[in-house]
Amino acid sequence: MISIAIDGPAGAGKSTIAKRLAARFGCIYVDTGALYRTVAYGAVKSGILPEDTDGVLRLIGKTEIDIAYRDGEQIVLLNGENVSEFIRTPEISEYASRVSAVPQVRAFLLGLQRKLAAEHDVVMDGRDIATVVLPSATVKIFLTASAEKRARRRYDELVAKGMDVKFEDVLGDLLERDHRDSTREIAPLKPAEDSITVDTTDLVLEEAIDAAAEVIENVLKSGDKN
Ligand code: C5P
Repeated sequence: MISIAIDGPAGAGKSTIAKRLAARFGCIYVDTGALYRTVAYGAVKSGILPEDTDGVLRLIGKTEIDIAYRDGEQIVLLNGENVSEFIRTPEISEYASRVSAVPQVRAFLLGLQRKLAAEHDVVMDGRDIATVVLPSATVKIFLTASAEKRARRRYDELVAKGMDVKFEDVLGDLLERDHRDSTREIAPLKPAEDSITVDTTDLVLEEAIDAAAEVIENVLKSGDKN
């Protein structure tokens, strides 16, 4: 089995790039952020605050989350219901980042992520894939870009979806989320010791995909020789 771990901060282009890499290398694409977003969505719907650990624990006790593929796109199921279109709002981004710091939430989602990688060749993106979820991943890429550039991309995405947002707010939210994700006690966002960093600040999408694909090809080639 091949597993390609792609970690990095919000807005580095992980999901777009990971999707394209999955198609190129014959893997399924697993967006692990969508799993945390789904827990967050369930919490919002039930009126549970992320800091209410007991409430969150009760919630995950009666929650089933699964991933499926429809027309080649990953969808997430919350107790059997496709919630994919509800989990991409700034509110859910923030909630997901807060709820993902709860150790039991991470433990709850770990099994599903590992199971997917055990059963399929995967390109899996997230924050702790190389460090925690798949420490023996075949290839580990840390995808990053300057905060300004990441916020600009996120802003353009939200505006394209018709959302009324301000660039300063998008940048502020992103910096706050980065800070929370990198300083939490459990599974913080950081490169694994053996991951290879790809900085996409000055790259257009196709260049970023090629740069990451080159890293993967080199690692796979060196694996063939060993
Ligand atoms: O990648 P995405 O922006 O969809 O992730 C939403 C939030 O989920 C992140 O800010 C992070 O807090 C959390 N997350 C995580 N570990 C992962 C993937 C996402 O903690 N592997």
